[in-house]
Amino acid sequence: MPNRTVDDPKHWHDRAAKMRAFAADMSAPALRCVTLKLADEYDKLGDLVASFVAEQRGGPSTVCPNCCMPMKLAQSIPQLGGLRELHHYDCHSCGVGYTVEAPA
Ligand SMILES: [Zn+2]
Repeated sequence: MPNRTVDDPKHWHDRAAKMRAFAADMSAPALRCVTLKLADEYDKLGDLVASFVAEQRGGPSTVCPNCCMPMKLAQSIPQLGGLRELHHYDCHSCGVGYTVEAPA
C-alpha cells in the first residue's frame, strides 16, 4: 500500500476513468477529444508511478527508449556458461521489445 495517494497507480487510473466518463457526456467534439487525451495522460502517469514503485521495491522494470513509458519484464533468460542472466522487456505502449543483461 503506497504511503501517499500520488504514489498509488490506482489513483491515477481512477482519474483516467473519470475523465473518460466526463468525455462521454460532452457534446463538443473538441472538448471530448482534449478530455480523452487527458485521460490517456493520467493512465500514462499511473503506469509511470507503478514502474517507479516497482523499482523502489527492487522489482525489475525499465523505461522504453522509444516512448519513455514503463516496460515490464517479459522474460528472464537464465545464466548460461559464462554469460550473465538476460532480461527481456516489452513495451505495451509502442510494441518495442529489447533484451539487456540482468543487473549484477
Ligand atoms: Zn515504448
